[in-house]
Amino acid sequence: MVIDSHCHLDLLAKKKDINQVLLEAAKAQVAAIVVPGINEQNWLTINKLASEHAMVYFALGFHPLFLKEVDNESIIRLEQRVAELKNNRKLVAIGECGLDFYQGRENELLQKSLLIEQIRIANQYQLPIILHCRKAHQDLIALLKQNPPLYSGVIHGFSGSYQQAMDYVNLGLKIGVGGVITYERAQKTRSTITNLPLESLLLETDAPDMPLYGYQGQPNEPKMVNLVLSSLNMLRSENEQTVTSQLLKNSKLTFNFCD
Ligand SMILES: [Zn+2]
Repeated sequence: MVIDSHCHLDLLAKKKDINQVLLEAAKAQVAAIVVPGINEQNWLTINKLASEHAMVYFALGFHPLFLKEVDNESIIRLEQRVAELKNNRKLVAIGECGLDFYQGRENELLQKSLLIEQIRIANQYQLPIILHCRKAHQDLIALLKQNPPLYSGVIHGFSGSYQQAMDYVNLGLKIGVGGVITYERAQKTRSTITNLPLESLLLETDAPDMPLYGYQGQPNEPKMVNLVLSSLNMLRSENEQTVTSQLLKNSKLTFNFCD
């Protein structure tokens, strides 16, 4: 059994029949899929997907690349939603939130203040946090040290150095391992993932984005998480059984999945 800890099923639904996608995921031993929130527009959709499909779970938050419609009341509405869903076991995290300076630092202050607010909400409701980071590891690590998430979480789709990864691990966070490790050219990330503690890793696809090596040009899907696991197994020194069962355990512990 494997868990896809990061999959934009709502975006994939625009490209593929979601019932078929989930059927194939189940056949491929995918036990659960976590669908991150992006902005207020997708919260209802992913909540609905989770209530309709046993294997689908979701998170609520503001993705740093989709902040156009964020206003002064946005965080209040997020907090209200989370409070309403407090007893819904399908809501498993806050996010995805974080910092993305790929296109520059124009809205750096907005990104940072929204992230701090989302960490506060995660801590208040005892939820883990799903973090997104591009071109911002230094800023993100500094911000997390000042505003530590208290209920763990994951830095998703990680690519970077061992030292950066360990900074997150030392903050109690997991490292999301995705399709990037299927590419031979991703040497730095591959060597990082090879050397990190096995207890710190989670599997993900980030579907429909981040196609695996050999599948470029096709929408990525949750069933592919098995191929990420195969690549991980090739990198790690532990035996396959140990890697598979530890990775499942890591996801279950992070998101408090009930069996
Ligand atoms: Zn994402």
